[in-house]
Amino acid sequence: MDSEALVVGAGPTGLMMATELLRRGIDTRIVDRAARRNPHAKAIVLQPRALEVMARLGLEERIRDAALPLVAANYYTRGRRVARINFRGLKGSRFGTPLSLPQNETEGLLLEALHEAGGRVEYGHRLTGLTQDADSVAADLSGTAHRTGRLLGCDGAYSAVREQLGVAFTGPTYPQSFVLVDGEWETPLAPAEAHYFMGPAGVLVVVGLPGGLIRVFGSAPEGAGEENVEETVRAIAAERSPVPLRLASVAGAGHFRVHRKMADRFRQGRVLLAGDAAHVHSPAGGQGLNTSIQDAHEAAWRLADVIRGRLPETALGAWERERMHVARAVVTDTDRQTRLWTWGGWRERARDLAASAAERSGVLDRVLPSRFAQMDLRYPAEGPALGPLGPGTRLPDIPLPSGGRTHDLLREGRHALLVLAGHTPFAERDVPVCAHLDARTARALGVRRPGAVLVRPDGVVAAAAALADPTALRRLEQLLPARQGGSGTTTSTHHP
Ligand SMILES: Cc1cc2nc3c(=O)[nH]c(=O)nc-3n(C[C@H](O)[C@H](O)[C@H](O)COP(=O)(O)OP(=O)(O)OC[C@H]3O[C@@H](n4cnc5c(N)ncnc54)[C@H](O)[C@@H]3O)c2cc1C
Repeated sequence: MDSEALVVGAGPTGLMMATELLRRGIDTRIVDRAARRNPHAKAIVLQPRALEVMARLGLEERIRDAALPLVAANYYTRGRRVARINFRGLKGSRFGTPLSLPQNETEGLLLEALHEAGGRVEYGHRLTGLTQDADSVAADLSGTAHRTGRLLGCDGAYSAVREQLGVAFTGPTYPQSFVLVDGEWETPLAPAEAHYFMGPAGVLVVVGLPGGLIRVFGSAPEGAGEENVEETVRAIAAERSPVPLRLASVAGAGHFRVHRKMADRFRQGRVLLAGDAAHVHSPAGGQGLNTSIQDAHEAAWRLADVIRGRLPETALGAWERERMHVARAVVTDTDRQTRLWTWGGWRERARDLAASAAERSGVLDRVLPSRFAQMDLRYPAEGPALGPLGPGTRLPDIPLPSGGRTHDLLREGRHALLVLAGHTPFAERDVPVCAHLDARTARALGVRRPGAVLVRPDGVVAAAAALADPTALRRLEQLLPARQGGSGTTTSTHHP
């Protein structure tokens, strides 16, 4: 065998996948058909849940230094602002707002994490064929044969891995194309905010970038081609924005089509598909890269445990079910947003009235920031809950009285057992990471009874039990993972 795992594609998905596998001691190679790193800005919005995953690779400070916090999104119709969403109200994450960072810079940080984990991207290696049997996968990389235990298809929307597997990728392409210019724009619009100018003729979106740059993109008028993108963007900016937008210099420009497609499976034998190879959708709400990074992180911790025999193969089936659930939700949500950008007539009026009313009542600020951040996304799972902490929910990342935050307990990349306002119910078990949280912290998590919560390495609750519920405790105990070597960590923050 040439490797335990082969990652095909070194975009954000492949970089996260390879780094996380290497950090877990899996002999991993990562290849990309390109001759060198991607130079294009593509995705710019990083949402808190994906940022949390990157922070676990030790990148938190570097991301904060490089990125621009986005504090609000504004929606306008016919020049009038109809709604504003304030991202600053986002609770339960160390990242209080989304951040703006061009994708090539995000990939630069992920590359640093890969190098720190001992990996290197092998550029100029294109996957052209693959076959698999019960024990391994044989890949053809630019004419060289490579045999691996697992193959991870992170090779983007036109995935060769997906094609080789014969997995269908179905869904429509939006009729309109989009154009964008990143550069210096002279405008009174607040740079640390997103601005959506909606109308039946098309949408115009303005988002700040770090370093004083601004991205302006929108749907191209019918007949506008791939040539003269700058002219097209200038023209739609003048037509759709009620305030001046004057282009002073260009950092990057592009023309792209938007699709809404999903692979009909994310796993076949020893091969997984993740990121754009598994799902593509509109850039509305900035979800593509964010969803992709999480696909990879959530596959990698399970795959490492499956390879080491600590989890059964069915754990990868659970990954596929969860990530298909997320992808479906993201594809549906972004499609809805994309359509309502260009509504006209009575639907436009109804949309704007509803948006204004929702803003006035505070619903927009309460609901949408955590929805865009994918923080309220819950995996389908059954079992007892402890207040809002039930199987499949995300553990909020809140401050601990002793310093640090709840998600710091996941730094080691293992499951963590949180004992809330009580004594550990499994004194005789050797739990890898066990933390006691005091009654105040429990209340801040919405928990009012003494209990225990088992949290997965991705911050998702695996099981919860009230200490007074022996059946639920037994169920939770059955899910406690075996020790993975090294010393366990026991953290105590004010015993109740
Ligand atoms: C204009 C634009 C704006 C966007 N804005 C946002 C945003 O704000 N927020 C957001 O979350 N998402 C956004 N997206 C989407 C985001 O860019 C993608 O979701 C993201 O790039 C997916 O990452 P990936 O690693 O899965 O795929 P990719 O980034 O496409 O990487 C795939 C890699 O695989 C390599 N590869 C392909 N075929 C092979 C092969 N046969 N062998 C070896 N290597 C191969 C490629 O060279 C590439 O490096 C935007 C996209 C565009 C185009």
